[in-house]
Amino acid sequence: MKGLIDRLRVHHELTPQGYRALLTLRDPQGLEYLFSQAREVAQQQYGKGIYLRGLIELSNVCRNDCLYCGIRRSNSRVSRYTLTRNQVLESCRMGYELGFRTFVLQGGEWGEERSQWIADLISEMRSCWPDCAITLSLGEHPRETYALWRRAGADRYLLRHETHNDRLYSLLHPISMTVGHRLQCLDWLKELGYQVGAGIMVGAPFQSLKSIVEDIQYLIDFKPHMIGIGPFIPQHDTPFHRFPAGSVDLTARLYAILRLALPQALIPSTTAMASLAPDGRLRGILAGANVVMPNLSPEDNRDMYALYDNKASFGAESAQGINALAQELSAIGYHIEWSRGDHKGIEKG
Ligand code: SAM
Repeated sequence: MKGLIDRLRVHHELTPQGYRALLTLRDPQGLEYLFSQAREVAQQQYGKGIYLRGLIELSNVCRNDCLYCGIRRSNSRVSRYTLTRNQVLESCRMGYELGFRTFVLQGGEWGEERSQWIADLISEMRSCWPDCAITLSLGEHPRETYALWRRAGADRYLLRHETHNDRLYSLLHPISMTVGHRLQCLDWLKELGYQVGAGIMVGAPFQSLKSIVEDIQYLIDFKPHMIGIGPFIPQHDTPFHRFPAGSVDLTARLYAILRLALPQALIPSTTAMASLAPDGRLRGILAGANVVMPNLSPEDNRDMYALYDNKASFGAESAQGINALAQELSAIGYHIEWSRGDHKGIEKG
């Protein structure tokens, strides 16, 4: 197994059987070797600093109906909200004072009639905090909309592809959504000069090991700057409420494999990791992740952005809990890195 892990570290890819062997590896020593190699590569690239992204959950209004998601359009039990311009700017101001230098605007997918409102908001954030990175995670839009937001000052865009497998994609989404269009959006975002993030949910209903291997191969081909991967967690008002949650362990293996395959990628240890296990965030970092995304949204709105049950948004998962996070990190020999944390390739270019 050591040979396989060394090969991935040197050549940055394996055969499908190789990925499968790492994803199902049982030997604890082999697994520790995988994680230690991933940590070593992350530290070679970015040191022992963990980048922070301040997550602002702009709105839980969504036109889509993804079967796994708690804010899907058909969930009539959600109280819908959209933050005002002032609430967003106030969240940024608070985040900036705490030391954040990246703001992530995430939300349900809106129609194009609201795109100019978002562009104006981005312009205002850009002029108030010129030294900060602005990341968007607002779903699928026409190329012109992505271009408008880029011109307004957005730097990065997170759009998980969710799965590269056509059939699985169609089991997770309504018929109106296709993986082809999702991938097209990711290509547009890259062409427009965004730092782009793709990724999947681990343990999504009907997902197989084979489809996870296809996702690894897609990510290696696409070379995203950021990789957003977290375990699926059921939400009680969705059609998938009876499915089991995904695994923290399998997610950590994926972080490690992708760290070795794409050494410079920015990989968050995601909120879903922290939501599923008390040590989930740290296990992600010990598997090669190097970003965390504390919640900067107004506290009263956080429970309404319920993508899944028991989503962590307070304590060390929140901007207010930054000291707790710093202590957790220091206990495993890491520290908060306060700079913007761009992808290394971009800084050089
Ligand atoms: N609307 C945007 C989009 O589609 O990219 C951004 C918001 S969407 C809620 C952000 C991510 O949440 C999705 O890409 C999905 O992977 C994740 N997500 C949604 N429901 C989830 C669940 N039940 N468990 C884990 N992750 C979930």
